[in-house]
Amino acid sequence: MKALSKLHSQEGIWMVDVDKPELGHNDVMIKIKKTAICGTDMHIYKWDDWAQKTIPVPMVVGHEYVGEIVAMGQEVRGYQIGDRVSGEGHITCGHCRNCRAGRVHLCRNTTGVGVNRAGAFAEYLVIPAYNVFKLPDNIPDDVAAIFDPFGNAVHTALSFDLVGEDVLITGAGPIGIMAAAVARHVGARHVVITDVNDYRLDLAKKMGATRAVNVAKDNLKDVMKELGMTEGFDVGLEMSGVPHAFRQMLDTMNHGGKIAMLGIPPSDMAIDWNQVIFKGLVIKGIYGREMFETWYKMASLIQSGLDLSPIITHRFSVDDFQQGFDAMGSGQSGKVILDWN
Ligand code: NAD
Ligand code: ZN
Repeated sequence: MKALSKLHSQEGIWMVDVDKPELGHNDVMIKIKKTAICGTDMHIYKWDDWAQKTIPVPMVVGHEYVGEIVAMGQEVRGYQIGDRVSGEGHITCGHCRNCRAGRVHLCRNTTGVGVNRAGAFAEYLVIPAYNVFKLPDNIPDDVAAIFDPFGNAVHTALSFDLVGEDVLITGAGPIGIMAAAVARHVGARHVVITDVNDYRLDLAKKMGATRAVNVAKDNLKDVMKELGMTEGFDVGLEMSGVPHAFRQMLDTMNHGGKIAMLGIPPSDMAIDWNQVIFKGLVIKGIYGREMFETWYKMASLIQSGLDLSPIITHRFSVDDFQQGFDAMGSGQSGKVILDWN
């Protein structure tokens, strides 16, 4: 079958012909229809330090997808051939304490589709049936293909009560922008998003941010004043991984504020801990999606009218994958879809 593989230990990704993955008793085989390119795929593409340490070569990558079940192992129940599905890319162990308590997203033995095992940039993907999410009919394929990063946004945004609250989102990458849309949809008052990239800030405004602030040019505290915010943000969603952005968040939070952190800093990150202590801040780390509450919430958010379509800015046939990776690498994009049909 056709697949996109990290074939060599250098920048790039290559179209290859590989064997179809093998189907175990508890697995399903999915024929891939559409995939999306994740920030993680870009790290792998560029072959940065993290990728060199993490990805065994060769490796079929990719974990954002929509497809259709074409085969099932003999133990699989609850699905049918032809079901339209996406799936959770974190494969959990089932035997650690958190797994056994049902807190599966906290499994300490998680492995990743398209990171530690064969991924979705392929004509066929095999995953445990447990990880499959069957899609309601009224969720379009393009939106279903980005459920994985949308789930990062939803898990982070819904970590704390947002109704009537003033929310600061640092980082208007695809995930930060989707989080802004979610925050507005569920009833936040002001949703302020920061970045240093005007293309992405414009997209964030289109998708519901009250104010999109380029912190390289404008002062966040002036914007807060203009909005009539006298005390500070109630909830912070850190979605940049940039130390300066996190420090700015700590500085502008109200006392008793709550912060959910998704962004991954490149290395150790110094902060003023007095901000955390004397403001009584609560900080929660976020990894992946809750299994599978986040998935149900995602479907419901779309079904209740949340429109994610503007975040998809580019679409290519998979044969033009290079253009897709170039678009994603340019910073002038939202999500980029590759079509496998
Ligand atoms: P992204 O890299 O596309 O977005 C990050 C954004 O931060 C960029 O648009 C960048 O311009 C912006 N930025 C740079 N400097 C800034 C500053 N000073 N202030 C505000 N913004 C600034 O990433 P993404 O794909 O949207 O993901 C968001 C973050 O979440 C990344 O750090 C990613 O590694 C991380 N992530 C974590 C998980 C998890 O499970 N914890 C999952 C997926 C992604
Ligand atoms: Zn586990």
